Amino acid sequence: KPIVAIVGRPNTGKSSLFNAIAGEPISIVKDIPGVTRDRIYADCTWLNRDFTLIDTGGIEPESRDKLLVSMREQAEIAIETADVIIFLTDVRTGVTDADDRVADMLRRAKKPVVLAVNKVDSFTKFQNDIYEFYNLACGDPIPVSAASRLGIGDLLEAVEAYFPQVEESEAEEDERPKVALIGKPNVGKSSIINRLLGENRVIVSDIAGTTRDAIDTVVVHDGQEYVFIDTAGIRRKSKIHEDIERYSIIRTVTAVERADVVLLVIDASEGVTEQDAKIAGVAHEKGKGILVVVNKWDLVEKTDKTMKEFTDKIKNTLSFMSYAEFLFVSAETGQRMNKLFEMIDMIRSSQTLRIRTGVLNEIITEATVLKQPPSDKGHRLKIFYASQVAVKPPTFVFFVNSKELMHFSYQRYLENRIREAFGFRGTMLRFFIRERQ
Ligand code: GDP
Repeated sequence: KPIVAIVGRPNTGKSSLFNAIAGEPISIVKDIPGVTRDRIYADCTWLNRDFTLIDTGGIEPESRDKLLVSMREQAEIAIETADVIIFLTDVRTGVTDADDRVADMLRRAKKPVVLAVNKVDSFTKFQNDIYEFYNLACGDPIPVSAASRLGIGDLLEAVEAYFPQVEESEAEEDERPKVALIGKPNVGKSSIINRLLGENRVIVSDIAGTTRDAIDTVVVHDGQEYVFIDTAGIRRKSKIHEDIERYSIIRTVTAVERADVVLLVIDASEGVTEQDAKIAGVAHEKGKGILVVVNKWDLVEKTDKTMKEFTDKIKNTLSFMSYAEFLFVSAETGQRMNKLFEMIDMIRSSQTLRIRTGVLNEIITEATVLKQPPSDKGHRLKIFYASQVAVKPPTFVFFVNSKELMHFSYQRYLENRIREAFGFRGTMLRFFIRERQ
């Protein structure tokens, strides 16, 4: 899925444009503080093309100096992560000094840029004011009004023109496991990657593909190729702006997007924090397979209960992803690092497992015999049949007599039965309940 980033000065209307394109927020993560309130990214569809929209703004600088620094940071993160950049300006202020500088940076980066001029609420009134934006040399300025939702179609048409052809992105669809490492700064992501690269064969790809292929790393372990996504940014010594939480989320979104399995790295010497939960929420929301990698295990003083206590504490903070698998490692000493691949394989096969309808329904019938379905006022839940309709994550549709009777606790019971029967591990299972008379 292509990534589209919005860059622009404060008050040009980035959030309004974001909302005008993304529509109302929908999120399946309800219990993670901060993730949905401050919307940084959204999955969007326009004329049957899916893309991820990110808002690189966020910090409101007080002074001119700080403004320029913040604009530079925004532009850098957009250049690094996006396939297409929307450069947002404001017709009411005209072209400013800061706009000029951003335009310079974007032009030098050679990423597709679509220049939008916001707050054009009346085309007749502002028609002549739009011409000066040609001076930015970022192509034809497209007049929009985020607040009145005018010109959004034209803008997206210009953006879409830069998306890779659908055939191309399908050809990209390869069978190799794709793995993303995510986590706060300094938890040891680079150390883990460097250790893996040191111990395994690395394939240097000479195929000129999309810009993002170039920062993937192919590692061969036991004859199997694994694609580690977006690892160049992790391996680089200078990790620009990673400390800024917003950027750390943006990086996470773009890395997680194409991954099958996500390694969520946590620093054992520090424990699990709210920021870990926010980062984990991104992977959860996208239905990816999840392995919690508890790193720096060498620094922890251990008894025979320590691992269990750690697991419980993390499960408690990450209660929305109780399905996650755990591995305790040390990138420093190499402890259990070779188990990583085994776990990745297991989680990926869970993500892509397809259960035949016949077998699935046998298990469900057996489960309803072992534990009677809930009833209300003489009405009992009846499950006519169920079927798996998708993988990544495995998704099931249940046809029942009454949706209300499918209580949360019974659904969870069924989920657990399915998990046990088929060995789904490290992946969420998604359920849709449909009524049929
Ligand atoms: P990143 O920001 O997540 O990529 O984290 P780094 O890989 O840069 O690691 C941050 C710091 O933690 C560095 O000083 C590493 O040497 C140290 N570190 C990473 N992994 C381990 C580990 O397993 N044990 C110990 N003791 N230190 C580690």
